[in-house]
Amino acid sequence: MRHLFLTLAQVLGLVMLADFLAGVVHWLEDAYGSEDTPVVGPLLIRPNIVHHHYPRFFTRLSWWQSSWDLLLLGGVIVGAAAWFGLLSWQLWLFVAISINANQVHKWSHRTRAENGRVISFLQDIRVLQTPHHHALHHTDPKNTYYCPVTNLVNPILERLRFWPRLEALIERTTGLRHREDTSVRGQGPGPAWLGEFRPKK
Ligand SMILES: [Zn+2]
Ligand SMILES: [Zn+2]
Repeated sequence: MRHLFLTLAQVLGLVMLADFLAGVVHWLEDAYGSEDTPVVGPLLIRPNIVHHHYPRFFTRLSWWQSSWDLLLLGGVIVGAAAWFGLLSWQLWLFVAISINANQVHKWSHRTRAENGRVISFLQDIRVLQTPHHHALHHTDPKNTYYCPVTNLVNPILERLRFWPRLEALIERTTGLRHREDTSVRGQGPGPAWLGEFRPKK
């Protein structure tokens, strides 16, 4: 019984850790990423800007199209762990969730009909983040609820005022400020290239 409880606690902890780290990456992209940054700009920041302007755009992308970067990162982590003899079920679980963070995020933008019964059910019982929960990230000023996998981590970070405190610390020490988000009312207009992503009526 004690063993089962410990295992479940570890699973929960790993899920929350993966959700938190996915949130940190998302926050870095939203707050400090620039589309002009070499390599990262066109690969990660542009899709991120598109997502804030047209949240439904990426729902038409395949798993590969939205997860290749996470898969690559997961491969590096597994490779490094294997090299150091640190492979364990915990590591595999963490990597498996992390690789699928963007897919879970995508599901929270799809309709129930698009998601089908199984995913909708998993959202209903809160195993996966619910669309309602994620919608809080897409509400102006879009600077909170960055974690995309569960409904568990964001409220804890909110209570701690984690993101504004971290941003204040970064501003104090480096002078860097949360960038303008052109999808937020009053901070636009967005870059001209966004036109090609505008939903066709
Ligand atoms: Zn965002
Ligand atoms: Zn989203």
